[in-house]
Amino acid sequence: VSEDTVGATTPSATTGAKKTRRPRKPTLDAAAGGAVDLARAAAEDVAEPGSVGDHLEATPEGDRIVSHSFACLLPGYRGWRWTVTVTRASRAKNVTVNEVCLLPGEDALRAPVWLPWNQRIAPGDVGPQDTLPRKEDDPLLDPGYEWTGDEDADEVALWELGLGRERVLNLLGRDEAATRWYEGDRGPRNEITENAKAPCSTCGYFLPLAGSLRQLFGVCANEWSPEDARVVSLDHGCGAHSETDVEVPADAPAVPLIDDLDPASLEIVGPDAGSDEESDADTRTDTPVSPAGAGR
Ligand code: SF4
Repeated sequence: VSEDTVGATTPSATTGAKKTRRPRKPTLDAAAGGAVDLARAAAEDVAEPGSVGDHLEATPEGDRIVSHSFACLLPGYRGWRWTVTVTRASRAKNVTVNEVCLLPGEDALRAPVWLPWNQRIAPGDVGPQDTLPRKEDDPLLDPGYEWTGDEDADEVALWELGLGRERVLNLLGRDEAATRWYEGDRGPRNEITENAKAPCSTCGYFLPLAGSLRQLFGVCANEWSPEDARVVSLDHGCGAHSETDVEVPADAPAVPLIDDLDPASLEIVGPDAGSDEESDADTRTDTPVSPAGAGR
């Protein structure tokens, strides 16, 4: 067993108990550590001319094994080191080159850790022309049905029940979607809901979802709402609720409506617009009307 075996155990000669040997730190071999010129020549042999810089350090790797590091001067390789490992056999004086390689130092400029392409895309990255690969083991989906052998009959029957898709959302998938929707902009905690006079649950434009999600979510079908065609929670709300209203102030100024094709016509709209007869009388006047005086 080598003396520098990590965690090696041997029985004690006197007690019989097992003792754990501490790993021995390799010492710098004088001959291998002094072979800087040999190491430099080996590095220059494989490197581009002029790209081997200063000798940085000699690191003992094991018994009579030393790695010599040289600065790499290649553009784009800041912090990298040409590393040449030299060694010598036991009781031999001759030092030989074991290997030459380019290694990153602590402050080396390195490429980011490689990520498989299918882990790089995020929700929202899929464009109109893109197709995602099928996830065979999607943790959010479960089989929609099981074949019993009579395949045609099974499939038709399941389609009749509104099922029949090969896979459907499982509990985890529904749970994740519900959490995401509820904590998003169309849940209960946002400015538009705080200012709403009533929740979606009492709105005529609220279309409940199917299945268990209908207990909490539906789709907004109000084109005047910023949430039109989106999933909203029962306790979301907006100013376009079907049953809420605003009071028209009693002193709201009347609004003159002018038909451009009939300059003589004028209709006053507002609380102090007066009776139909008065309006008719106004519209019959030949006096030109200005919008500023129309409400009086
Ligand atoms: S109009 Fe407003 S209150 Fe009504 S369902 Fe849509 S978001 Fe909810």
